[in-house]
Amino acid sequence: MDELLQETKDRALAYLNGLADRSVAPTPEALAALEPLDHPLPDDPVDPLEVLRRLDEHGSPATMASAGGRFFGFVVGGALPATVAASWLAGAWDQNAGMATLSPAGAFVEEIAERWLVDVLGLAEGTVAGFCSGATMANFTGLVAARDELCRRAGWDVGAQGLIGAPPLRVVVSDEVHASVLKALALAGFGRERLERVPTDSQGRMRADALPKLDERTLLCLQCGNVNTGGIDPADAIVPRAHEAGAWVHADGAFGLWAAAAPARRELVRGYDRADSLATDGHKWLNVPYDSGMVFCRHPEALRRAMAADAAYLVQTDRREPSRTTPELSRRGRGIEVWAALASLGRRGLAELVERNCRQAARFAAGLRDAGFRIGNEVDLNQVLVSFGDAERTRATIARLQADGTCWCGGTVWRGESWMRISVSSWRTTDEDVEAALAAIIRSA
Ligand SMILES: *Cc1c(COP(=O)(O)O)cnc(C)c1O
Repeated sequence: MDELLQETKDRALAYLNGLADRSVAPTPEALAALEPLDHPLPDDPVDPLEVLRRLDEHGSPATMASAGGRFFGFVVGGALPATVAASWLAGAWDQNAGMATLSPAGAFVEEIAERWLVDVLGLAEGTVAGFCSGATMANFTGLVAARDELCRRAGWDVGAQGLIGAPPLRVVVSDEVHASVLKALALAGFGRERLERVPTDSQGRMRADALPKLDERTLLCLQCGNVNTGGIDPADAIVPRAHEAGAWVHADGAFGLWAAAAPARRELVRGYDRADSLATDGHKWLNVPYDSGMVFCRHPEALRRAMAADAAYLVQTDRREPSRTTPELSRRGRGIEVWAALASLGRRGLAELVERNCRQAARFAAGLRDAGFRIGNEVDLNQVLVSFGDAERTRATIARLQADGTCWCGGTVWRGESWMRISVSSWRTTDEDVEAALAAIIRSA
């Protein structure tokens, strides 16, 4: 173990220290060099040091350098130093964090992370959190809790009776609903073609004036952060109305919810503390390693009822049981890295991270506008849409930029037009990274 872990440390450090000087996307040569990993399954054991060597030599160059400061594709954070370290230690612990009995430390740390998250995200006191693989699973978990609770209020026990013959529920989403919410709704038994869609404004925000009549059989899904524009549905105007009607409000806040952690941006997410359930990601703006998402629920009993799996041998303590907050039973201790991120950043460090990324996004928009290109959204969060002319020019610019390797951005279609997307969400991104990326983008265009 000794030599192996020392060697791992050296190789990991060399990898991280080399990020600034390599192409963000792996080169075609690096991808071709993956081939030797595909050898026949060995009959006999191989020295772990040799296994590590092969993985590093062939694997490392073929990674996408999203741990570095110049990856602006999708919405991807890096991993804060404290979280990489915590993840290594937690790997050595090898805890099954699904049950308090199996991992007292895991359960304890997760409970602290839950309280800290509720605090920094400005959620209602008493909100319960479940630590799952990402916002897709967090959306799924929240939607299942919503489904079961709305049916329970109508006198139907989904856990016992299933969905066949259940009182019909209505699901209201915006026409900008994220693909992962649609997937989660389908998994939860809500047909994609039965959804009621609310039109959105120029930034993809749900129009409060276009809401259909809601009732106590309605599940309303809000979006806190549109993947193209960063636009945030006006929860403040919508949630009180939904609650008056008895509806359940679920919010997909994969990255946008983190605006709550920065005092200057908090206003953008006003009203989300009243949502019944929310989903967010740890591996995006909180900058913890994959995979890490959180579901929040203001009705702890509703979440526990929906996620319960009780058997005599799964000794249930009277403590908070992690397995009653997510679909999984056995799982890794994701709360440990979340705890480490918040413990190392502190309230001010997190606020500064979010604020800096928003400021950097605004700098991208200003620099590109000054260079004569069109910006497609109001940049008040961390997302920028830029067009370099017609669809063909924008596509060609993205291809040249990705091959150039200074930074990485992807494309999208927004309101029928082609755009390049820039998402800024890494702790590692410096202002120098932004200037280098701007120059590369302008050069590529
Ligand atoms: C990233 C994202 C998701 C999905 O999150 P995963 O962590 O990839 O499962 C859902 N909604 C929005 C708005 C997102 O940005």
